[in-house]
Amino acid sequence: MKIKEIDIYAIRLPLIDPFIISYHTYDDMPSIIVKITTDDGLVGYGEAVADEHVTGETWESTYALLKYTLAPAVIGENPMEFERLHEIMNKAVYQAPAAKAAIDIACYDLAGKKLGVPVYQLLGGRYHEKFPVTHVLSIGKPTDMAEEAKRRIQEGYSSFKMKVGTDVQVDVKRIQAVRAKVGEEIAIRVDVNQGWKNSATTIMAMRQLEKEGLDWLEQPVIADDFNGMVEVKAKTSTPLMMDEGLRNFRDMRELIEKQAAHKVNIKLMKCGGIYPAMKLAHMAEMAGIECQIGSMVESSIGSSAGFQVAFSKKVFTSVELTGPLKFSKDVGNLHYDVPFIQLNERPGLGIDVDEKILQELTEFSTKVTK
Ligand SMILES: [Mg+2]
Repeated sequence: MKIKEIDIYAIRLPLIDPFIISYHTYDDMPSIIVKITTDDGLVGYGEAVADEHVTGETWESTYALLKYTLAPAVIGENPMEFERLHEIMNKAVYQAPAAKAAIDIACYDLAGKKLGVPVYQLLGGRYHEKFPVTHVLSIGKPTDMAEEAKRRIQEGYSSFKMKVGTDVQVDVKRIQAVRAKVGEEIAIRVDVNQGWKNSATTIMAMRQLEKEGLDWLEQPVIADDFNGMVEVKAKTSTPLMMDEGLRNFRDMRELIEKQAAHKVNIKLMKCGGIYPAMKLAHMAEMAGIECQIGSMVESSIGSSAGFQVAFSKKVFTSVELTGPLKFSKDVGNLHYDVPFIQLNERPGLGIDVDEKILQELTEFSTKVTK
């Protein structure tokens, strides 16, 4: 089996509500869908959702990189030879993990379809039966965030990820308001998205929040400030998760060396796809660090790829892949049983892609044959 042609679609996924985090407000989600066709007629889908604040890649740069560099480099290759594919992509361009993830995911979809097994079967087999789905609360007024949390509990949710990271004193009020509204039994995780900048601000905030019983605190300080994470971890008692700071193998080595976090948020878009994500998970497992699979708010394609990884490894103890629940239109049909998700047993990514919706959401596209 050889890669024959690659279609690249630049799409915009419409959001039901704007998604607001510390560094950006999204009205829709720009994404790149990759469709790989092989010489034996199989089709696999991949996705790249670039985040310029995290990896320096944009929607436009990812499209160009796939069109002019990565797609031509992998045409003619066997999509099941992952070590080789990544070596080819890494030689062609430094970093650019989201662009590489699109090719990687499409090849895993193809490999699963070729062998007639779900992708998780290629990653060690299924370990988890189901994961709870966490509801993400966008940044808003403390009372509005608390009201929304209350409403979502009635829909069945029992855990929340609060986005904060604007003004630290308002953030403290947001967290206190949600906790007061939902009671002590509900799980609350807080993602600051680097918004508290440094260890001093973070420690000051956490002194006011220690009694709120948070599951964990995610990326309070600037991504590259590993020493800041070390200081926060030493001086507070809430488990600490690294997200934006943890992208590649080099970052994971430094994190392990410094013991800079209790948990890490691994995303296919930060590390280059399923294959490197598994390597990161093994590194974390050996160092006794718990993992979560997160996303850049991806369609059914990227989200399913993330779930395939999470379901296959014991070291993944939580998932945050809620993109498909946020979109009013999606290119695929990944199924959630809110407040849980259970993957099906269909080959590859286990989803159908609706080509009509894909065309409808496409702003520009290209076909690469060599
Ligand atoms: Mg995060």
